[in-house]
Formats: sequence, structure tokens, C-alpha cells
Amino acid sequence: MQPSGAASQNLRSMLEDSDRFLTGVEIETSRGLLMAETSRKTAELAKSLSEFERVDFVALTDNPGGNPHIRPEILGQDLLFRGRDVVINMSCKDYNRNGIESRLWALGSQGFTNVLALSGDYPTDGFQGLAQPVFDIDSVGLLELIEQMNEGLPNRVWGSVGREDRLEKTNFYAGCAVSPFKKLEGELMTQYFKLAMKVRTGAKWAITQIGYDSRKFSELQLYVQSTGIEIPLIGSVFILTAPAGRFFNRWGMPGVWVSDELRDIADQQAKSRDRGRAYFSELAAKQIAILKGLGYRGAYISGRPQLERIRGILEMVDSYGENDWKEFAKEINFAQTNEFYYFEQGDNPGLSSNQVNKDYLASKSKSKLARAKALMTVPLQYRLGKFVHDRVFTEGTLGFKAGRAIYAQVEKSKKLTGVAHVLEQATKVPVYHCQDCGDCSLPDIAYLCPESECVKNQRNGPCGGTKAGMCEVLDKECIWLRAYDRLKPYGEELTMLERPVVFRDASLRNTSAWANTFLLRDHHGKKNPADRSGGA
Ligand code: SF4
Repeated sequence: MQPSGAASQNLRSMLEDSDRFLTGVEIETSRGLLMAETSRKTAELAKSLSEFERVDFVALTDNPGGNPHIRPEILGQDLLFRGRDVVINMSCKDYNRNGIESRLWALGSQGFTNVLALSGDYPTDGFQGLAQPVFDIDSVGLLELIEQMNEGLPNRVWGSVGREDRLEKTNFYAGCAVSPFKKLEGELMTQYFKLAMKVRTGAKWAITQIGYDSRKFSELQLYVQSTGIEIPLIGSVFILTAPAGRFFNRWGMPGVWVSDELRDIADQQAKSRDRGRAYFSELAAKQIAILKGLGYRGAYISGRPQLERIRGILEMVDSYGENDWKEFAKEINFAQTNEFYYFEQGDNPGLSSNQVNKDYLASKSKSKLARAKALMTVPLQYRLGKFVHDRVFTEGTLGFKAGRAIYAQVEKSKKLTGVAHVLEQATKVPVYHCQDCGDCSLPDIAYLCPESECVKNQRNGPCGGTKAGMCEVLDKECIWLRAYDRLKPYGEELTMLERPVVFRDASLRNTSAWANTFLLRDHHGKKNPADRSGGA
């Protein structure tokens, strides 16, 4: 059943047909039945927000923090009926691509159009133990699926060769997340590359990660403008508390960090009579003013705020003078130690200049000798992988033609197929810790295996969860940072994500990845995503 009262102004029209600064509020769904106490309170908050004209859209979380909660659309349906536009956060941790597609059909049928595509936090709990995360596709794969659904997915009729018609088009307005609050060069640059990839894949708007560094907010806006990534940015404003400050300071929420200095300020403020409430509201108001001043298209307020709190914060924003935000930017400028910035600092320490980081530029224009030295730091595993790939696994090379001819013969014998597979594994397991997925992404990630080295199996760029370059789950560096560092000495890092979206084909598991590459059965051979969307 479609809602009777479609949103009077939807996110798409507000972003595309106006230049108004928007206010969105995130509501965290809760665990339990809708009629239970906690969910009822959440529903009441949603209702009160829907009646407050200053809130332009309400966003509903999807199992936040990796915990099981009621589905966002259960709450969202009521908001849609009230004529309020809703953003459904959708992550890839709990559903495979079929489950996600099925959910998208349900959302589209219920009248939801705005989907924030996320990879999702790694699960932290579950019934009778930790839930097995899915991560069959990632946020970029989800955007590709949404884009294809909007164009009309091919509807292959089973058993009839060549017959194909298209399913009815959906009307999703997809958004994505971006995290500029990263410490290391490779960690930050891969976030920016991934944002560009998301936009190419169909993201129409982007929401930032939570952060308290105005210079990074400023840099992201400048980066998007200067590189031609055309996407409206919405900045996250989390209303801090002292416990949240301590939690973020310990990297308690993936990818979100609060500096020691801000944590201490928050602790100090919490000793006041109102436990820091006025201070934290003012901090949020100042952040919103900064986002407005920088030219962001809106603020995404989170931190479980109640209606009166939001009203007060927005009134505070209204009370500020036109240029006050520049002073606030100087003040809210909490960076990580030795944090990398793509742009040099501006005259105002809380803002970027439009001069690209001089050290970064110098690192890219090295002398021949310096470059040769840099190449020597690249691990042998990468150099060997690249050497073999360029000569044997690249279509059009003599090696590829020979490999194709050999595997065409090998596959005529079951025994030979088995022997060849064992030989391949004998090479790849010791070097890459290969997990025999059969749809190899080694060449996509500078010869690092996403199956064995990334708990979220991220094949299209890093998730947003890294903490100073480290994986959000394991005590090891993110593979995408390592890939960046391997590619940079070759001058290949800028284009590392300029390629079609990778979807792993589960039907290839435990089969020879080499055979699948030579015989064009894997994602390298099937470059057109439309070929895959019918789902084998
Ligand atoms: S075949 Fe799959 S599991 Fe093996 S190295 Fe390649 S990506 Fe990793």
C-alpha cells in the first residue's frame, strides 16, 4: 500500500531544485516490538519531528553499531503517511545481494525513495553469540544495484535462452557516506577516491562521517569542487555528551574519533549543573553554522536529540551573525596528531586554503633516483604479482592467450582440472593466504586478498571504519591503505578505483581463479555489471 500523503517536499527536490540549507535528524531505531516502551518513545519522537517544520527529513538507522534493531521502514511508514520525507539507512552487513534486492523492492513498494547506501559496521553481538556478517556486496555494489533497479533490472526467464525483459523501474534517490576525518594520506585519499567512485555509480548526495575538525569539513567541500565530483554534501553533527566523548576517544564507534582535548573539555563541561547540556548544544549549533558558511547543503543531526533540544539548537544557529562561523571554525578544530590534509591550511587555522599540500605534491614529483628508492620499498609480493599479471593475466598479452588455450584443454579432463587447481592453490595460499573464492581481486587491490585480509571483504575501496589506518576489527593495517602505499611509487594510486564495480560471483567458490580469469568467467571477464544483475 502506498502512503496517502507523499512528502510535500522530498529530499530530491529540496537538493536539486533549491539551494536551501536542509536539516535532517537521525533517529536510532530500537530493539523490540514497535508497541514496546522503548520503540513507542522512538515512534513518538519521530511523530513530533514530523510535525516540526524546521526538520526537512528524518533518517532512520539500520541495525546501528552492528546491533539488531527493528527495521527502519517500520517506523518510517508512519512518517511517510504524515507527509514527511524519510531517509532509510541500508547497510550490507546483514543481507546478501538477494536479501538487499528483496528489501529494496519492499521499500519501493512502500513509497520510500531515499536510501543511504552503507557498507555497515561489523556486528558486535547477536543471539547466542556474534552474528556472522554477510558483506556479500559493499556500499558501492549496493549503489550499482539501486542504479540498475532504477533503470529496470533485466528479468531473465529461467530456462529460456536469450529471452529477456525488464522489471519495472524503481525511483530510488541514493546517497552515500564519506569520511574526511582520516589521519593518514593513504587512508584519506582512498576515501576521496571512493567518494568519486560512488558518485560515478549513482550516489546523488553524500553525508559525512561524524567529526569535530572544521578544517576537514572545509577540505572535503573544496576537494569536491576542485575535482569536479558533483555531489551535494550534508555534514554530520553529533550532539556530544561526556560519555560519548570518552567512547569516541577510544574508537568505540568505527571510524569516529574525538581528540583527548575535546574529550577533556566534554568531561569538564559535564561537571556543570546542566551536565554540559548547554555547552554541547552550542557546539552542535556552531558546527551547523560552519557547515552553512562552508556551503554544505545541510546538517545531519544525530545523538538521540529530542525535539526541544533540536529547536533550541536551530534557534541558536539563527541568532548567529553572517560571519560568526569563521570564528567557530577556529575553535572547533580537533585533529589527530600529524593528521594528513590534502590542502594546506588557510589563514584561518580552521579552514583549508585552495593550495594542495606541498609535501604531498613533492612526494609525487620525485627525482628518478628518489622514485627508484621508493620502488624498492614496495614488497616483493606486489612486484612479483604485478610482473606476472602484466604478462600473463592481462587480456591481449601472449601469456593470456597461452593461458586461455591451456585452460581450455585442461578443463576437458576432470583430473587435470583438479591437478591445476591444486597447483594454483600451492602458489597462492602461502603468498596471499588465498581462500579459494574463485573470483580473484588480487589485481584490484595491489595483490592483497580481500577474503583473507579484510573482514568486510571490501573490494571497491575502504569502508569508513578505519582508526588511524588500522582495521576497525583486526589489529592490522587496512588493506586499502597498504594498496595505496604500494601503488603510489608506480604513480598508479590516483586511478586505483577508476574501474567497474567489483561483484564477487559466489558460484565460482572453490574453483580455479586462474581458469575463471582466462576463460572470462570472473568479474574481470564480465566487465559489464548489467551482465551480472540477473543473478546466476
Ligand atoms: S582467489 Fe579470492 S581468496 Fe584467493 S587470493 Fe584471489 S581474492 Fe583472495
